[in-house]
Amino acid sequence: MKKLLLPETNSYKANLHCHSTISDGQWTPEQIKEEYSKRGYSIVAYTDHSMMIDQSHLTDEGFLALRGFEVGMAQAEKDKTTHTIRTCHICAIALDPDNLVRPCFNQKEMDHWRYYNKPAVDWVIYDKEKPQFEFFYSPEVISKFMQECRDEGFFVTYNHPSWSMETAEQFLNYHGMHAVEMCNYGCYVEGYEDYNPYIYDQILRGGERIFCIGADDNHNRGENPERDSFGAFTVIKADKLDYKTITDAMVRGDMYASQGPEIHSLYIEDGKVYITSSPAKRIYIGTELRHSRCIWAKDEPITEACFDIPENCGYIRLTVEDMQGRHANTRAYFTDEL
Ligand SMILES: [Zn+2]
Ligand SMILES: [Zn+2]
Repeated sequence: MKKLLLPETNSYKANLHCHSTISDGQWTPEQIKEEYSKRGYSIVAYTDHSMMIDQSHLTDEGFLALRGFEVGMAQAEKDKTTHTIRTCHICAIALDPDNLVRPCFNQKEMDHWRYYNKPAVDWVIYDKEKPQFEFFYSPEVISKFMQECRDEGFFVTYNHPSWSMETAEQFLNYHGMHAVEMCNYGCYVEGYEDYNPYIYDQILRGGERIFCIGADDNHNRGENPERDSFGAFTVIKADKLDYKTITDAMVRGDMYASQGPEIHSLYIEDGKVYITSSPAKRIYIGTELRHSRCIWAKDEPITEACFDIPENCGYIRLTVEDMQGRHANTRAYFTDEL
């Protein structure tokens, strides 16, 4: 029997991590909407540093503004010189359009942006009854942050681990994320190795069931070819462009991450997985085990592939690589959900 891994429905192109003039980005929220809409995006998650504010006025029938924020927890400066400080950055995106209250609030974090004259610090809504969240670079505190955000109804992403210089010692001890950034284009543009398939595998093999996303993390300080927009995205499969319909699809994992290639269909039938895509140089499957298979284009690019699903392989995930070396990555599908 055929079982769809990606639903056969609308595809919405999303940038799930960005910075506007609300924090340290160069484009206004309106400009981001305009530029991304021009290039076929339907969804942007506004994830300015610390400041989660309502951007719902930007939503219309062709565009959805998701509300979020990003925080960082860095190693103490006394331990390392500034340019070698390890850090952990996390985005939290509200799953419900009515969720306006920023979880894990800390006044010191806001004071940093007040210093830079950012008026939005006064628009952030937080729970004044709750004790302030004490930020500290430790797996316990980072996991607590992820869990609290989840409990408050947020989608939690673990950002640019390569830029952050984190090692398995750190990220294997983080619990509570929904997804890791498979590609962070802003960091990639700066020369960091933030295309992260192996880190995704390590976290999966560590026992976490998480998804992967692609995102720009754009600040728009540079012009082409240094522009950090439109290089990595997430395609969300959903019946309509409505806040809750989209975030429900994200929580189910009805999406894939990409640097360019498109995945048109993904399903299993009789113990095999089938994929169709935009023209590719190669399509390959990875599992929890040492069991990969790769189909290469010969004279012409390929647009489909089929692979046996090995028994007891833990999970499968597929990658499409196009002629320019850009990748589209499915999430991991665990054998007990196949
Ligand atoms: Zn960051
Ligand atoms: Zn960022």
